[in-house]
Amino acid sequence: MTELYNFSAGPAVLPAEVLRRARDELLDWHGSGMSVMEMSHRGKEFVSIAEQAEADFRELLGISAEYHVLFLQGGATSQFAMVPMNLLRGKPQADYINTGAWSKKAIAEARRYCTVNVAATSEASGFTTVPAADSWQLDAAAAYVHYTPNETIGGVEFHAIPGTGAVPLVADMSSTILSRPLDVSRFGVIYAGAQKNIGPAGLTVVIVRKDLAGATLDGTPSMYDYQAHADSGSMLNTPPTYGWYLAGLVFQWLREQGGLAAMAEINRGKAALLYAAIDGSDFYASPVDPAYRSWMNVPFTLADAALDKDFLEQAGAAGLLNLKGHRSVGGMRASIYNAMPVAGVNALVGFMQEFERTRG
Ligand SMILES: *Cc1c(COP(=O)(O)O)cnc(C)c1O
Repeated sequence: MTELYNFSAGPAVLPAEVLRRARDELLDWHGSGMSVMEMSHRGKEFVSIAEQAEADFRELLGISAEYHVLFLQGGATSQFAMVPMNLLRGKPQADYINTGAWSKKAIAEARRYCTVNVAATSEASGFTTVPAADSWQLDAAAAYVHYTPNETIGGVEFHAIPGTGAVPLVADMSSTILSRPLDVSRFGVIYAGAQKNIGPAGLTVVIVRKDLAGATLDGTPSMYDYQAHADSGSMLNTPPTYGWYLAGLVFQWLREQGGLAAMAEINRGKAALLYAAIDGSDFYASPVDPAYRSWMNVPFTLADAALDKDFLEQAGAAGLLNLKGHRSVGGMRASIYNAMPVAGVNALVGFMQEFERTRG
C-alpha cells in the first residue's frame, strides 16, 4: 500500500503515534472504565489529564508563572475579538501589522472595538514579504501591537520577534506555535487555534501575561474574559475535554522527540528540502521573499497553471493529499507542520521531480 501523506493546512495531520495511543485508550482510559469523552471535566481522571497537559505545554515553551495558560473554545477567530476586549484597558487604539489574510481578519474584528492603526503593511507586495522594520509606524500610546508570525495562506513567516518597547506584543501563532523554541517573555498574549500544530479543531490555547487580564471592556461576556477563564482553570463552562486530552498527547510526543529545539532542526530541514526543490527548478516557483519563507506552509506554483489539475490528481494518486493552494492564492500549498515526517517531504520532492520530468 502507498504511504499516504496529508499536507492539509488545517485541520491537519497529527502524529501517528498520538493517534495510535488515543485509539488504544479510546474505550477505557487507564483502567477508569471510561473514554476520556465520557468523563466529568471535574473528575479526578480528567483533572489529572488537564494538569499534565498544561505542565507539559509550559515545560516545552518555558512559560513562567507570570503567565496564564488557557484551554478555550471559539478558535483563533474568537481571539480576534477577545484580544481587544481584554487588552485595551481604557486605551482607544491598538497597532496592527498587516501581513496577509489572517492579519486582515484580526484587524477587521478589532475595528469593532477600537481605533486600529495599521502600523505596517506588506499589501503592496501582494503579501509576499514582511514590512521592513524601519517602515513600522508604532505608536507608544497603543494598548498593544498585534501581528501574525506565520501567515498560513500566504506562507510568510517572521523569523525574529519584533521589538515593541513597553507596548505588549500579541501574536496569532495558530500555524507556527511549537515549531521551534520561543521566548514567551517577549509577549503579552499568544494564541493559537489547535488544528494546525497542536491537536484537533475545537480547542484554542491562549497564553496571557497575568497583569494584562482582569480589566475588560464594559459588556464583555464572561466567556470572553481571560480573567474569568483563569480563575476557573479554563473550566468556566465545560471545556473541550477530548481536544485538551489529545493536545496533551501531542505535548508528550513533542517531549519524546527532544522538545522544541529538536523540532526546530527537523522543521528547518524539511522546509530547506522543499524550497531547494522549488528553487532548483525552472518549473516550480515560490512567490515568497526568501528571507520570510514559512517553515510550516509552503505555497508554490507550476510554470504552466494549466497543469495544476493534473499535478493535484497525480499527487493524490501517489498518496500526497491536500496540496491545493488556498482559493485566494491559487497554485499549490504544502503544509509541513510538526507531525509531517521528513519522509513525507521526501516523497513530495520525489513526486515533483518526476512530474517535471514527464510533464514539464
Ligand atoms: C487557521 C487560522 C486562523 C483561524 O482559526 P480558527 O480556529 O478557525 O478560528 C487564524 N489565524 C491563523 C494564523 C490561522 O492559521
